Amino acid sequence: RSLSERDQAIIWHPYTQMKTAGLPIPIVRGEGVYLIDENGKKYLDAVSSWWVNLHGHAHPHIAKKVAEQAGTLEHAIFAGFTHPPAVELAEGLLKILPPNQAKIFYSDNGSTAVEVALKMCHQYRSNKNQQRDKVLAFQHSYHGDTFGAMAVSARSAFTAAFESLLFDVEYIETPNAGNIDKLIKYLRENAAEISSFIYEPLIQGSGGMLMYEAKGLNQLIGTCRELGILTIADEVMTGFGRTGKLFASDYMEHKPDIVCLSKGLTGGTMALGVTSATQEIFDAFLSDDKLKTLFHGHSFTANPIACAAALASMDLTLSQETQDNIQRICAKHAAFALRIQNNPKLKAVRQTGTIIAFEWETGDDTSYFSSLRDNLYQFFLKEGIILRPLGNIIYILPPYCISDAQLDYIYAKIEQALDIF
Ligand code: PMP
Repeated sequence: RSLSERDQAIIWHPYTQMKTAGLPIPIVRGEGVYLIDENGKKYLDAVSSWWVNLHGHAHPHIAKKVAEQAGTLEHAIFAGFTHPPAVELAEGLLKILPPNQAKIFYSDNGSTAVEVALKMCHQYRSNKNQQRDKVLAFQHSYHGDTFGAMAVSARSAFTAAFESLLFDVEYIETPNAGNIDKLIKYLRENAAEISSFIYEPLIQGSGGMLMYEAKGLNQLIGTCRELGILTIADEVMTGFGRTGKLFASDYMEHKPDIVCLSKGLTGGTMALGVTSATQEIFDAFLSDDKLKTLFHGHSFTANPIACAAALASMDLTLSQETQDNIQRICAKHAAFALRIQNNPKLKAVRQTGTIIAFEWETGDDTSYFSSLRDNLYQFFLKEGIILRPLGNIIYILPPYCISDAQLDYIYAKIEQALDIF
């Protein structure tokens, strides 16, 4: 039996009960921007495998560091013990994160990085005997699929089955020149009840690659700081250069209290999450009272191989070559956006940094699982490009090592798709 058949017989994949013959596609190798299937067909990974593979696949520098670490120290309990990769990574991250960040808490992925942030904020209030427990989030947000992360995500098909178990969240609009005064007024009038505010800075990824400007967000964060509302920047997608700067938070003068990282953190090699926090938050958990410690910790917390992968990925991200590549991709995307923006099939073209999104005009049909979505996915797959649409929106979120020629190939296929669908 083929690998696909063996898979279908026993594996439960995310978001689908796949029954189509030939699916899922068996990938046996990764090389640069390509994933390669068992027949040798190459797929250009234009979405960096769910937004994680910053430097493409099987990068030799990361592979070498991971192999070295695996042969030296592969895992160690992180309660009462530490190891070089955890300390070096924390030191490295604090050099590049917003300057108010002082402590690094490790977990396993983006969702757990968010869970930790939410637990930090909630317990911060109880440690300080404060009765503020309302959480604010943006409409159309996505912060993960564990229960806390689902609770602070916008309600959608992804959360519908669990609705009754999710805590209430107050959803506000993303800021713009027209609504910022109203949003600030809301914060001022309700601050006494509000514990924290979680947001995806500048780009709401799973909500449809929706983009908004730094100016209003900066004002919101500044107001939260003034009112004692804790701010959580979910940089799980935007971190490590995606927006053109190292972090989306770098576009703003006011800094978040907490930052969540994952995805690009290890360059896609290993699963790892980070929640960083200010000294002030950490200090609220410092006490002789053992019940004031943060009640969170996983078996794989700060896994040494994952930390070594993150250190190696960070070497690459901070290299001049990658920084130049990021700026090159930003400029290429901007030029293509300009060329295509008036195409009548498109409702909108949006770009922030290395991320560009194309929203198809679909009239009244706004369903997520539309035939357009399937058709676009299949079309690009046939052309050897992995582009997973979000409903009627396709986007390119490429590995930084993608060449101009490879980007031009994707752009050309998008123009062809616009002619067909
Ligand atoms: N936050 C954001 C902004 C995300 O985009 C995602 C994943 N799409 C998550 C959190 C959850 O990350 P993970 O899938 O690694 O749990």
